[in-house]
Amino acid sequence: MTITEQPTTTETIPHFIAGSRREGSGRTAPVFNPALGTVAREVALASADEVAEAIAAAKAAFPAWRDLSIAKRQAIMFRFRELLVARKDDLARIITAEHGKVHSDALGEIARAIEVVELATAFPLMTKGEFSENVSTGVDVYSLRQPLGVVGIISPFNFPAMVPLWFAPIALAAGNSVVLKPSEKDPSAAVFIAELYAEAGLPAGVLTVVHGDKEAVDVLLTHEDVAAISFVGSTPIAQYVYETGSKHGKRVQALGGAKNHMLVLPDADLDVTADAAVNAGFGSAGERCMAISVVLAVESIADELQAKIAERMQGIRTGDGTRDNDMGPLISAAHRDKVVGYIGTAEADGATVVVDGRDPEVDGDPNGFWVKPTLLDKVPTESKAYQEEIFGPVLSIVRVASYEEGLELINANPFGNGTAIFTNDGGAARRFQNEVQVGMVGVNVPIPVPVGYHSFGGWKQSAFGQGKAYGKHAFDFYTREKVVTSRWLDPSHGGLNLGFPSN
Ligand code: NAD
Repeated sequence: MTITEQPTTTETIPHFIAGSRREGSGRTAPVFNPALGTVAREVALASADEVAEAIAAAKAAFPAWRDLSIAKRQAIMFRFRELLVARKDDLARIITAEHGKVHSDALGEIARAIEVVELATAFPLMTKGEFSENVSTGVDVYSLRQPLGVVGIISPFNFPAMVPLWFAPIALAAGNSVVLKPSEKDPSAAVFIAELYAEAGLPAGVLTVVHGDKEAVDVLLTHEDVAAISFVGSTPIAQYVYETGSKHGKRVQALGGAKNHMLVLPDADLDVTADAAVNAGFGSAGERCMAISVVLAVESIADELQAKIAERMQGIRTGDGTRDNDMGPLISAAHRDKVVGYIGTAEADGATVVVDGRDPEVDGDPNGFWVKPTLLDKVPTESKAYQEEIFGPVLSIVRVASYEEGLELINANPFGNGTAIFTNDGGAARRFQNEVQVGMVGVNVPIPVPVGYHSFGGWKQSAFGQGKAYGKHAFDFYTREKVVTSRWLDPSHGGLNLGFPSN
């Protein structure tokens, strides 16, 4: 089978170890087509031994990869970029088949991934060291940035291509080998990416994909041959990954969940704001860590904004992502039920259901995991529907009296991933950017995902550990500094001196 083909229904999605596909030997899990609600194929779930084998392959591949010339490593990175651009439609189709997001949205995630792939080609500049000549007579000091060894990447279901490619290109370019454990819910994109890297000339073992669940993750977190972990997923697992990996001596960055608020001041352009709220709330069915989940509307404009948002929602086409729709299904039946549960909770707690997405009329199979765009107003902040991450197409309006009340709610929230302010008042926007306790801030931009050369990462419960995804932080995260003090003997040196070295 070539990588352009999608797996057939009878296939079990294999691992990719030491440069080739590897059948699993034990447990499997079903992979659904969420638009049909049916099991499309199975995925192998690696045993502890299989993960150890993958780590051993990565460890064995590391020294030669680390020592390959910069020019040759860079050529592979450029070739991968060209292949990814050429094959992005194939990859997007794989994403839609397993995740459910519409084709244009899948292409959007690949476009953001390509930004990081392109950034990674700058590794010679980003990882070069420094040199100080003659710190003492005939003595030079220089610093090197060297790769860490084997890096583990553990990724979530919602961006099956982009999140692995937030990390892998820079980790690889910097000279590390990588073991990627993608989400078991939509694992095929990772195999496609690994095979594309192989086609680009990446040596066998340098990028390995193992599928699995907690059993596989735990091996990566505890194995002595894994030097660093990059994780993205929900907050409880991010915290677990951070604590377990750190305890086992690894450098860990673990990005978690979110509850992103958009504060709308009375002077905002309400048409632009309503467009932004709808796009950011319902794109990818709200299954984005930077989705807007709560609109904080200052009371004087709340009725008008609610009406404008509700009106725009009528135009959203929900249905099968392979057709001309705007929004696809949710990832699983369990997740659909959870999201529907939150709508019921909000209603029971006194919220108004302005647009009810529990209506099953969609352009797709009735068995798909559908929830249509839902708008809640006057959501009480005591409700679990306000407090917890819903991760679905549910936008909650919470009415506030003032900028101060809105800011206080955002800063009291345990998450700190993204936020946005909508206003035409530059002073208010500047004050917000200064006062808000959130890692990524939009000013009249609802989804402020930084471009590749700025780094991505939240604050508080949205990220654990040091170092963010991509940008210059990533080159530091995947390398460590070594400082060399060097003297080449010449006839002027010599003689005994037991004193502490001084210049
Ligand atoms: P998840 O936490 O369920 O899974 C993430 C990864 O962890 C998967 O590879 C999964 O196999 C593994 N995993 C699951 N349970 C585990 C356990 N008990 N022990 C060890 N590993 C385990 O997350 P998800 O549902 O795949 O993704 C959605 C979540 O990810 C949301 O909370 C979303 O906000 C978050 N997310 C955050 C960002 C960010 O940048 N902050 C980006 C994307 C998604």
